[in-house]
Parts: sequence; structure tokens; C-alpha cells
Amino acid sequence: MFKLVSIFLLLNVAVIAQDKTYNDPFIIILGIAQDAGYPQAGCEKDCCKRVLTDASAKRMVTSLALADPATHQWWLFDATPDITAQLQLFRSKTNAAYPILPAGIFLTHGHIGHYTGLMYFGREAMNTRSLPVYAMSRMNGFLVQNGPWDQLFEINNLSMRRLRADSSVNLSTGITVTPFLVPHRDEYSETVGFSIQYQQFKLIYIPDIDKWKKFGRDINLLVKESSVALLDGTFFKDGELAGRAMNEIPHPFVEESMLQFSTLAEADKKKIHFIHLNHTNPLLDKKSVPFAEIKKKGFNIAEQGEKVVFR
Ligand SMILES: [Zn+2]
Ligand SMILES: [Zn+2]
Ligand SMILES: [Zn+2]
Repeated sequence: MFKLVSIFLLLNVAVIAQDKTYNDPFIIILGIAQDAGYPQAGCEKDCCKRVLTDASAKRMVTSLALADPATHQWWLFDATPDITAQLQLFRSKTNAAYPILPAGIFLTHGHIGHYTGLMYFGREAMNTRSLPVYAMSRMNGFLVQNGPWDQLFEINNLSMRRLRADSSVNLSTGITVTPFLVPHRDEYSETVGFSIQYQQFKLIYIPDIDKWKKFGRDINLLVKESSVALLDGTFFKDGELAGRAMNEIPHPFVEESMLQFSTLAEADKKKIHFIHLNHTNPLLDKKSVPFAEIKKKGFNIAEQGEKVVFR
């Protein structure tokens, strides 16, 4: 019996040693909803009523955790109003193998879903010490010049690391993060997307962008060059927000994106995962006709809790 167990253990160790992917970084998607979450405050329509009868339909605001098993560090992309539950989600998905706090936080821009979670690092909450926040220059200025955010930096709960567009930040063990500018309603800050690269694997994260044609780059080429692309899927189609001018809050409608990406090969379409879904977006309902349509056309919808391994 002892012999058998020993052989089994030896085999097991050998399998782990041979498995080169064992230390590959991965991301966990911590939320897929637009800034205001799902359900949205004040909404009494069917879209949000659905969550009243089925709590499992609730979705948190778009955010990612990037983890490095080699160093047991992790980084947060966007600090959302749902951060408390999202730190918990990451912890449960990784069986508490990582520290509670990330090694750094990367911010895309100054809209409420993307930075207000920073308040939980202050004195009233976790009271962290010198936790690095990576932000572009206007975003940086917005935080250090306006209360209550300025206090987080003054008393050193957070420490600012300046990002520059198209300039990579080297995280541990060969993971690089590169911000790139995207057109968006930049009232308080510029807006960036991120490219996260490890060896040949590249993940693109663009939660907010006005329209693909305003992007100074060829998004189709960017998808081709990437392994996974998490792209703005805020609204499914024009007219979705009854009584509101949708040109005031431009996003590529998913219907437009499907046309934009229709010429891509099947393998490239599969890389696209729509994220940052507004409460009105039928893609939040897996039983909806549009959800089936997207899948049939070869695209994907990001899922909360989903793990993407960089291999
Ligand atoms: Zn947003
Ligand atoms: Zn709603
Ligand atoms: Zn935004």
C-alpha cells in the first residue's frame, strides 16, 4: 500500500514538474456590467426586475484580476463600486492562495465604475499603505487634486505610478501591461485600454470606447494580433435607452461591432468577448435571442468569475 501511494505521489510530482503551464499567469473576470452595475439603481423595468426573482442574474461592474502564480502577486484592473465583493470573488476563485490586497491597481479612466472603489483603501476602510495606483497623467491629476481622493495619496494609503500611452510597465516574470489611448467622453481624465502580454499571449481590454471608427487604430488588426479581446459591449443596439439621446453617450453598439468584425476569421471572432454591459443590454440574459445570435455568429460574452489562462 505504502509503495503504491509513493509511486502515485512521485507520478504526481513528475506531472506538475513537466507541466510548463503550471506557472502561467491568468486573469479572473470580476464583473461584466457597465459602471452602474446590474441591476441599476432606480430601474423598474423588466431588465432589472429579472434580478428580483433570480439573484444569480446580478452582475458586478467590469473589472479584472491579473494573477501571477510564479510570484503569488496579483493586480486589479479598474477599482469599481463593487470592490468589496470583487476582492472576495478573487479570493474564493483562487482558494485564498493570494494576498487579499493586489500588488497594484491599473485605472482606465475617471468614470464612476472605474475608480470610485479606491475609497475602500482609505482610513474609513482598509487603510492600506502605499498601494501602487497606475494611472495616466490627467487621471493622476484628477485624483491628487480633488477630495476625497487626494487624501488617499496625502496620507499614503495609495501611491501614484504614472502611466504613459504605449509605454509598457514590466510586472514580475515577464508580464507587461501597456496602456493605449481610446476616444471616450473624457470629462475628467483621458481614457485608455490595456494590452496585457505574457510571452506570445496578449489580452486586450477596452471596456469603454466611443466608436471603432474614431479609434486611431485598426481594431480588427488588434484583434488578429491578440489572443483574447475584452471589448466594449455596453449597448446591444440603437434605441435601447428609451427617452435618452444615445449620441450623448456613444459606444459601439454590439450590432455595429458584429458588422465591424464580420470579415474576421472564425478563430479571430472567437477571441472577442463583449464586456461592460448596460442593464438594458439583452446579452445579460443568457436565454435571450440576441445572446444566442452572438454565439451563433462566433463571438463570446464575458462571464463574471471566468478564468482566462495566458497560454
Ligand atoms: Zn464604463
Ligand atoms: Zn434595468
Ligand atoms: Zn466611461
